[in-house]
Amino acid sequence: MVIDFVNNIGASVAFVFLLTLMLQKQESFGNYEKKHKVIIGLGGGLLGIFLMLSTVEVAEWVIVDLRHLALVISAVYGGMIASAVTGLIIGLARFFLFGISAASTSALTIALVMGLFLGWISNLRMVFVKKYFIMNASYLAASSLAIAYFVNNLSHSVKILSYYLGISAMAGLLIYYLLMYIQDNEKDKDKILYYKYMINSMIDMISTHDQKGNFKYVSPSFKKITGYEKEELIGQSSFDFYHPDDLESLSKSLHAVINEDYEVTVQYRFRKKDGNYLWIETLAKKADLRISDEEEIIAASRDVTIRKELESQLLNLNNKLEELSNLDGLTGLHNRRSFDYKIEEEWNRAKRQKNELSILFIDIDDFKIFNDSYGHQEGDLCLQKIAEILMLSLKRTSDYVARYGGEEFVVILPETDQEGAIEIGERIRKAVEDLSISNERSETKAVITVSLGAATKVPNHENSFLNLINKADQALYRAKKSGKNRVVHYNEK
Ligand code: GH3
Ligand code: MG
Ligand code: MG
Repeated sequence: MVIDFVNNIGASVAFVFLLTLMLQKQESFGNYEKKHKVIIGLGGGLLGIFLMLSTVEVAEWVIVDLRHLALVISAVYGGMIASAVTGLIIGLARFFLFGISAASTSALTIALVMGLFLGWISNLRMVFVKKYFIMNASYLAASSLAIAYFVNNLSHSVKILSYYLGISAMAGLLIYYLLMYIQDNEKDKDKILYYKYMINSMIDMISTHDQKGNFKYVSPSFKKITGYEKEELIGQSSFDFYHPDDLESLSKSLHAVINEDYEVTVQYRFRKKDGNYLWIETLAKKADLRISDEEEIIAASRDVTIRKELESQLLNLNNKLEELSNLDGLTGLHNRRSFDYKIEEEWNRAKRQKNELSILFIDIDDFKIFNDSYGHQEGDLCLQKIAEILMLSLKRTSDYVARYGGEEFVVILPETDQEGAIEIGERIRKAVEDLSISNERSETKAVITVSLGAATKVPNHENSFLNLINKADQALYRAKKSGKNRVVHYNEK
């Protein structure tokens, strides 16, 4: 009896597995094409025939068969169409195998009616366990009635039915667990499909890499963004696509991910298929993918080219603004604001390096008279010409000139001693005079000239740069006092 039972269960399990194999390629459990439903029904029919033939012999005079399992499985997998086909085959087979009789007529009727009924149940929206119970119970109830009718002996009937129902319940339970197991697997398959769909529809690029940075997987968005087919990337080193200037920092990042387990965000240039570079931002980390036997890196990347462009435009604009705010509008020289920063900076540098620092204050002589004689516009032009001369007179890149205000200029001369300052001052004075800009009514000379006050200092803790400025200012005053168009150094007596 046990062997018969195991036989029946074995055949049902094998059938379920065959069905699962056949339907594996389909997207969703229980929702197949008509063709497949008919095939399920036919398979169920064959299983039903097998189950009818290999009956379980419970006692000498009691045999039961588990054909309803075929019907239930058909209904679960293929719904109404499948279970109707299975019911028809089982019912007809009953005729062919055991001849026409009242019993076989009722068996055909039960198989057909139950085929349709189970199919109907399987389409209802109901928890699977409930559906499954109702299917089994309703078939068993129908066939129990038939058995009771044909046996027509109460004690016999009770005995037969208790065996029949007991065995059927056991078999039903086993098949239930099998179906549940398969359903769970199907759900996992659905989940995998779901995740795959998610990754495929992401705008960001997802990739995995081995420890050397070679591509192992790339998501479809790579094609859209970089132009490469996945076959052109997988197996290739990602380093083959990076901009040469980014290689070093990227190889450091790879090292940090692999050896230090860091999560890194990097920005770099990636060569597209058309040869142009994209700015990419990638978040990369080591992935603990249990399906792989070596450690992998998982990377999420996005195209940040537009953002990068905007950033650099903004930076340029900022630099320009900064520049503009430090420049004098009329002459293009640095302005007073810039000088205030610069003098402190140079003072501190000279202090650190214990170098001499010189400055020159330059003031145009009798400029009021010039303006009065030739007009303000000519005055402005004159200021511009002198600014140009000042720039040309300074040779070292560290030398610095600013318009201090009005017709006054200031020059900073780092690492320059008293003699040097006087020499440069004299050079400027002469160059301005050589411009030969007429200033007929000037009491100094008939051309535009300048007076210069110079001061030199090695900065120390007792002094501040204000002290240096003050001395240059005093020297300038002395230059004016002593006849203009000259250089006076504060230290000169
Ligand atoms: P001194 O030789 O003593 O320096 O005499 P000065 O006339 O140059 O000095 P003062 O300070 O009396 O006059 C400076 C003049 O410089 C006053 C103003 O007309 C002129 N000035 C100042 N800034 C500008 C400017 O931006 N453009 C023009 N055109 N003139 C200016
Ligand atoms: Mg002045
Ligand atoms: Mg002046």
